[in-house]
Amino acid sequence: MSTPAMRMSTLFLRTLREDPAEAELPSHRLLVRAGYIRRVAPGIYTWLPLGLKVLRNVERIVREEMDAIGAQELSFPALLPREPFEATGRWTEYGENIFRLKDRKGADYLLGPTHEEMFTLAVKDLYGSYKDLPLSIYQIQLKYRDEARPRAGLLRGREFVMKDSYSFDVDDAGLQASYDAHRGAYIKMFDRLGFDYVIVKATSGAMGGSASEEFLATAENGEDTYVRCTSCDYAANVEAVKVPSPPAIPYDGLPAAHVEDTPGTPTIDTLVDHLNAAFPRADRPWSASDTLKNVLVMVVHPGGRREPLAIGVPGDREIDEKRLGAQVEPAEIEAFDEADFAKHPALARGYMGPGALGEDAASGIRYLLDPRVVDGTDWVTGADSPDRHVIGLVAGRDFTADGTIEAAEVRDGDECPSCGQVLETARGIEMGHIFQLGRKYAEALGLKVLDQNGKLVTVTMGSYGVGVSRAVAAVAEGCHDEFGLVWPRELAPADVHVVATGKAEEVFAKAAELTDALAAQGVSVLYDDRRKVSPGVKFKDAELIGVPTIVIVGKGLEVGTIEIKDRATGVRREVPVDQIVDAVVSEVRGSAS
Ligand code: ATP
Ligand code: MG
Repeated sequence: MSTPAMRMSTLFLRTLREDPAEAELPSHRLLVRAGYIRRVAPGIYTWLPLGLKVLRNVERIVREEMDAIGAQELSFPALLPREPFEATGRWTEYGENIFRLKDRKGADYLLGPTHEEMFTLAVKDLYGSYKDLPLSIYQIQLKYRDEARPRAGLLRGREFVMKDSYSFDVDDAGLQASYDAHRGAYIKMFDRLGFDYVIVKATSGAMGGSASEEFLATAENGEDTYVRCTSCDYAANVEAVKVPSPPAIPYDGLPAAHVEDTPGTPTIDTLVDHLNAAFPRADRPWSASDTLKNVLVMVVHPGGRREPLAIGVPGDREIDEKRLGAQVEPAEIEAFDEADFAKHPALARGYMGPGALGEDAASGIRYLLDPRVVDGTDWVTGADSPDRHVIGLVAGRDFTADGTIEAAEVRDGDECPSCGQVLETARGIEMGHIFQLGRKYAEALGLKVLDQNGKLVTVTMGSYGVGVSRAVAAVAEGCHDEFGLVWPRELAPADVHVVATGKAEEVFAKAAELTDALAAQGVSVLYDDRRKVSPGVKFKDAELIGVPTIVIVGKGLEVGTIEIKDRATGVRREVPVDQIVDAVVSEVRGSAS
């Protein structure tokens, strides 16, 4: 099959020498400079011809792997009515992340941020028996989210392309099988997309549900932090890490707690210094991990209700906003500010202790502890009056809380929840998320089928996403060098970049002939046929654009050769003119999978 070549003289493309001002990450800089995308508004981009080719290549890979597991493609509108989202509570839960609009009659609509509701209703509409299941359906479509912080070009857009699929089964075993099939398809897909990735345990976020894993592209610049065990195969998004609780310690015989004056010690550092100066321990110096730090935040529920929350963590750990955020979703966290403190006179700022915290205590503020604060552990913590702390306050004996919360930061060297060995942290970009949704949406929207015994049963669902447009940026983030993009072959906007250099008519004739011969064999060619552009500029553009094979037609013709250069390795070789077509074809096919 012949593929028409793209000619640089007419291609709708301008490469830029300068980095765009707003771009922080290499992938963003290079995709703009090399003429793949143009910004329209924050988090909203136009796909130029080269960019669209790459996007279509990602879509093709995703589509092939979905089709291979028997999933069927369909397409829902992006413009959706409010009612189904009202039925599941997400019209409110999604809060400010939804783009909402009204039609001329004043009816509410939204631009779909994800499509669980629509898929569930479509199956309810058409199916009614266990015999119709299992079913997996998917779409590759634009999604809209009014992200608080659109970032890094395509990585976090407000309009972006997602593949979302959903599985429908009568029972848990069926759901597990559908989940496993998707997991297998994702592994193949991400292998083909050509970046390094890890599969990590995840939380299921606003969707609800149970088993859940994310596919993260490993990237220093990623927004997600994950941990992996240095000894076993445990890997998890930090949001999903469950800190192992040590066993409770018997506290009989522990000395009584005592309140001490600790003037000018509102921070953990000042407190530890004071303890070591005024109350030295016999066995070892005091450290931050001996203290219990109590932090107040404001939980803002969907709909706007504000609820204060106190969290107690060992003083050597900070609260991790993302971990905390994942715990309270769909609510959001805001700072507990001056005005909030003013409303709670029982709180001694800088000297807050468990005494004033808890639903039954003076403040009435819900109080949750880090899982490490088990019964029998003893702490130095605020005594609820300025410049005073209490030493030897024992959990379980002297104070209790309303529960535990996974909100403290996870650090390199922490204990692995699976094997007890050492965890290390790293960063990544979330590329895909698979999870067992269960019956939440089917229940909310009344999706039931008749089972073998003629009884109505609620269908169980899985939900599986891939960031298709994000993948373009994630691959660019992993595949570039100082000169430009270096596309893996399956994603490249063309198989070969033919560059004609010099002024000689003969060069252009030969390059055009080569381009046509390659096109006739189904090789896609980007042909730099510009007449008045210097070889230097053409080479720079070729490096910037990042097609994997660059073929240079120029001076070599005098001795009967054409040069093939590998963009990734920089390796060049001269090939006799009469062998060039075969050489290029085998280069293209040889490294293609
Ligand atoms: P994130 O945690 O990065 O906000 P999410 O958990 O909200 O993502 P999902 O709802 O699971 O995302 O969406 C499925 C996939 O869609 C994600 O794995 C990601 O690859 C992609 N995605 C989500 N939000 C965006 C966005 N704003 N821009 C581009 N891709 C996105
Ligand atoms: Mg997710």
